[in-house]
Amino acid sequence: MSVQTKIYEGKAKILYTTDDPEILLADFKDDATAFNAQKRGSIEGKGNINCSISSKLFQQLEAQGIKTHYIDSPAPNQMRVKALKILPLEVVVRNIAAGSLCQQTGLALGTVLKQPLVEFYYKNDQLGDPLLTRDRLFLMGLATVEQVDMITHLALQINKSLGEFFQQCDITLVDFKLEFGLDSQQQLLLADEISPDTCRLWDNAQGSDPNLRVLDKDRFRRDLGNVENAYQEVLQRVIKTVESN
Ligand code: UDP
Repeated sequence: MSVQTKIYEGKAKILYTTDDPEILLADFKDDATAFNAQKRGSIEGKGNINCSISSKLFQQLEAQGIKTHYIDSPAPNQMRVKALKILPLEVVVRNIAAGSLCQQTGLALGTVLKQPLVEFYYKNDQLGDPLLTRDRLFLMGLATVEQVDMITHLALQINKSLGEFFQQCDITLVDFKLEFGLDSQQQLLLADEISPDTCRLWDNAQGSDPNLRVLDKDRFRRDLGNVENAYQEVLQRVIKTVESN
C-alpha cells in the first residue's frame, strides 16, 4: 500500500488517501491544542499512544457489534480507516458533570448524573463548536431525524460498553466526544478517535485529590503536569484489560 495525497490536516491527525478510494490512512500527531486552538503544545508520544488506545477501543466496540471506521493499524501512530463523509457534529456523552457542562449550568464538578446526557455540538471552529438544540440541528440540515435517533442510540450503547471497559481498567469514564460518518452505502459508522484527548478519564485508584485522578487532556488544558505519564498509564491499563478479557 503506497501512501498518496494528504487530504486533510486537523489538530491531532493528518489524513492521506491510499491506493484504495474506500480507505484512508490516519496519521496521529503529538501536537496538542485546547480552548479552540488558543493553547498549543506537544505531548511526547501522544500520536502512538492515542492511535494504540483508539485501535483497541474500536476493536472492543466492533466485537460488540458497533460499526466503526477502524480497519487496522499498520504502524504505532497510523490507522487505516474507511473513507467516510463525516457529519459536522461533535456528539458528547456525559456521566459526571465536568468542563463546559459545569460552566454553563452551575452544576458542581463531579456531580453524578441520574442518567447519561447526550449532547450535539456544531463542529465549526470559527463558531467555537456551539451547543446545538435539536431544532437548530434540523434547521441547518446537519443530519436527518433518523440519523440523530440512530446516533443517540449508538452513543448510549458506546457509553455503556466503554464505561464497563474503563471500570475494568479502574478508571471512571466521566464524559467523551464521538464523531460519526456515512460510508458509500450511507451506512452510519463511528469515526475519529477515542482517546485521552477526547475523553475525561478519572483514576479510581487515586484518593481524594481530584487533580491526581485526572488521566486525560485536562492535565494539558489545566497545566497539571505529568501529561505523558497519564496518557501512557491509560494505554498500559487498556492493554492489560484487553489481554485479561
Ligand atoms: N471534547 C473533544 N473535542 C472538543 C470538545 C470536547 O474531544 O472539541 C471532549 C472533551 O475532551 C470532554 C468532552 O468532549 O471529554 C466534553 O467536553 P466539554 O464540552 O466539557 O468541553 P471542554 O471542557 O473540553 O471545553
